[in-house]
Amino acid sequence: MRRPIIAGNWKMNKLPSETRGFVESLVKLLSDAHDRDILLMPPFVSLSLVVDACQGSNIKVGAQNIYFEKEGAWTGEVSADMLKNIGAEYSIIGHSERRQYFKETDEMINKKLKRAVSVGLTPIFCLGEREVERKKGIERDVVYQQLTRGLLGVELEKIVIAYEPVWAIGTGKTATPQDAEEMHLFIRESLQKIYNKELAESVRIQYGGSVKPDNIDSLMAQPDIDGALVGGASLNIDSFVRIVRFK
Ligand code: PEP
Repeated sequence: MRRPIIAGNWKMNKLPSETRGFVESLVKLLSDAHDRDILLMPPFVSLSLVVDACQGSNIKVGAQNIYFEKEGAWTGEVSADMLKNIGAEYSIIGHSERRQYFKETDEMINKKLKRAVSVGLTPIFCLGEREVERKKGIERDVVYQQLTRGLLGVELEKIVIAYEPVWAIGTGKTATPQDAEEMHLFIRESLQKIYNKELAESVRIQYGGSVKPDNIDSLMAQPDIDGALVGGASLNIDSFVRIVRFK
């Protein structure tokens, strides 16, 4: 049985000064939700604060990105060891916004996944096709390529995967639960070929792309959807609490 995992990706939102009160409210409102993993992924500058506010609670904290080098002259970058050192347990890797705006390649994402795993940070490995690729009917090829290139030499049992069709991120367009399930199943079947049945069955695959209180229940009802990576709707207490409390 795969444990559900709901993560809030704040992206570049919320000032540190407005963060503590928000997180303290979430901690109180979600204190009884013990049968699922709940993650908050704030910007780097708020990570320590959020780790502190979540101390002793059932909410875990993750970063939105890491750099793949261990340390050194990489001005502006943040290492996996640094994040682990301040108490982060997860990191998003390969988000489509990083691929699109910061030109991250499958090769860089592969290095980041390996680096995160090597320090004990659990990566949430994001992949998904663009709208033009879905229109051409090549969405499976795209996802398969991202999967195989990204995962080269990566221990599957140490990661979480997030399927995020790019056309659904921040657009209000969600994949139908059936379309999302089809792709999750395809990913799981592909993982069975790349790894083995046991690992493919146990890895958790989140859906991401305009997840909201009114679509979370039908998405989570799908057999191969194990959680959600939530952007916009994680910035509001009521909507994030409702999403975490999916039925
Ligand atoms: C995301 O940040 O990964 C995401 C899916 O954003 P949104 O929920 O706003 O579409």
